[in-house]
This record gives sequence, C-alpha cells and structure tokens, in this order.
Amino acid sequence: MSSSFTAASVRGAAPPDRLVQAVAADDAVRVVAATTTRLVQEACRRHGSWKTATVALGRALTGAALIASSLKTSERVTIHIEGRGPVGTITAEANAQGGVRGYARHPQTDVPLRPDGKLDVGAAVGKGVLHVIREGSFEIGLMEAYRGSVPLVSGEIAEDLTYYLSRSEQTPSAMSLGVYMEAGDGVVGAAGGFLVQTLPDADEAIISRLERTIAAAPLITEMTRAGATPEDIIRQALGDLDWRPLSERPLSFVCACSRERAERLLLALGGDEMRAILAEQGQAELNCHYCNAVYRLSAADLQRLIEAEASGAEA
Ligand SMILES: [Zn+2]
Repeated sequence: MSSSFTAASVRGAAPPDRLVQAVAADDAVRVVAATTTRLVQEACRRHGSWKTATVALGRALTGAALIASSLKTSERVTIHIEGRGPVGTITAEANAQGGVRGYARHPQTDVPLRPDGKLDVGAAVGKGVLHVIREGSFEIGLMEAYRGSVPLVSGEIAEDLTYYLSRSEQTPSAMSLGVYMEAGDGVVGAAGGFLVQTLPDADEAIISRLERTIAAAPLITEMTRAGATPEDIIRQALGDLDWRPLSERPLSFVCACSRERAERLLLALGGDEMRAILAEQGQAELNCHYCNAVYRLSAADLQRLIEAEASGAEA
C-alpha cells in the first residue's frame, strides 16, 4: 500500500463531529468536550480561508459549540471577536441542536509564524473586544437574552473565552481549543476542544486537583490528531476524577440561509429600492456572510418581487 493512499484515507476518515457533556465530582464539575475536524474543514472550504484565519475561525466555532452545550432548545449563542488584527472580526454562532456557522471578515489572511514555529493566531486577531450574545426564542421571535463583553486577553481565543466565562458570566472555567492544519494545502488535520466549569459548591481540593490535571493534559491538537473521541478528551482533562456522561449530540456546519430568505430580504428593501437595483445592475446578488453562499436573482426575479411588493402580497 502506498503512503499517499494511507494519508488520503486517514484524511477522509475523520469521524463525524460530536459533543459530549458530562459531570464529575458529585456533580460539582461540568465538562464538555467536542471534536470539530469536519465542521472546521467545511468552514475552511466554504470561505477559502488561509491557515491562520482557519485556525482562528475554527477555534471560535469550536468555542461557540462548547458554550452552546448548556443552551435549551431554540436558543443560540453568538461570539463576536472584534480584533483589530489583519483577520478582522470573527463571528461564530452555535445552536442547541449542534448546528454551527461562522466567518472571519478577511479569511485570506496570514501572518508570520511565531518564534516557536506555530501559527500566530494572537497576532492575526489582534487586540480588541470579545462579545458573547445569548439569544432565546420567545413568543415574538428570537430575542437577545444576555450580552457580555470583555477586552481580548491574548487573541488566542480559548484564553479570551475562558476570561469571558469567568469574568462576565461568573463561572470559574477552563477552556482549551485546538485546530491543527496539515502542511501546505488547506486541509484541517484535526480540531476540537473542551470546557471545564466548577459549580459554586465545588470544594477547593477538587478545584486545585482539576487545575493540575488540566495543566498536565496533552495539547488538544495532540489528542485530536491521535484520534481522541470527546470521551477520551474528558478522561485526559479530568485525570482520575470520577465522571459520568449526561448527553451527546452530533455537530455540523449548518447555515439557515436560503433563496427564499434572500428574496424576503430584497422585498423588505421596498419597491423603490428594488427598481433602482434593477435599473442600475439588471440583477441582484446576495452573499451570505456566514457560509459564503451567493444567491443570484435575475431581472425577471426582481420584476416578480417588485410586482409582489406592489400588490402587497408575499412573494
Ligand atoms: Zn448561509
């Protein structure tokens, strides 16, 4: 068997992304772990993102999925990393069903490697502010339930989200996120992460024991590259603490956009605006930031929407 065959089959064989939630130490510790190789690869493919931008976006998507694990059905969480570095603002959104989507403002961005030879995500993201928005679904639609903001600590994302959770949401937390890029060709080798949180009644001995095991755990990229499952990651993060799984869900890159939504967006502009677009451009092109899908509406489509708007009917 040739080595190129082996490499190709290993790449194609990344198991489906999963998230597992568990509790430990008599329920005083909550832990969530996820593998996200496929969804980060999908984000990279859709946005044509370069290495450092892919790692930054992949960490944000993984972090959003971990934070969304505590949501109820029909809630979602959005992370805006408003850095002033070359990659621009990163937006990552995750819902309670395991759907994740997101983008970086400037995906075709790279920065020089760090002195230790690693991708410099902190430099690509830069200094700035992290916003986390939790939204819930109420009778009148999706509404903002909670918004918190903290300054970026390092732009490395896991550290920033940890600071946010501990500071803004007052939950002592440790998060680790990793995205490993294969050499050369925009292939995500492995991605994943974990989040450990202690509840108010966790005793000091448990907390310091956790700090030691987390510090001693292998890097998340090492674990996921070696094929670790979310359960393996939990074991490594918790050391010999007793734990039990609570729930699991599949994760994937999903976008809520559609041609119908694109048409509704145009309709909402009103007749005058649509006539101006028709006269000036002869067609309309709408781009979904989240997944980079492009919806093209021809002159005939626009005419149909203009007539629908004039007659007050839904298109
Ligand atoms: Zn989309």
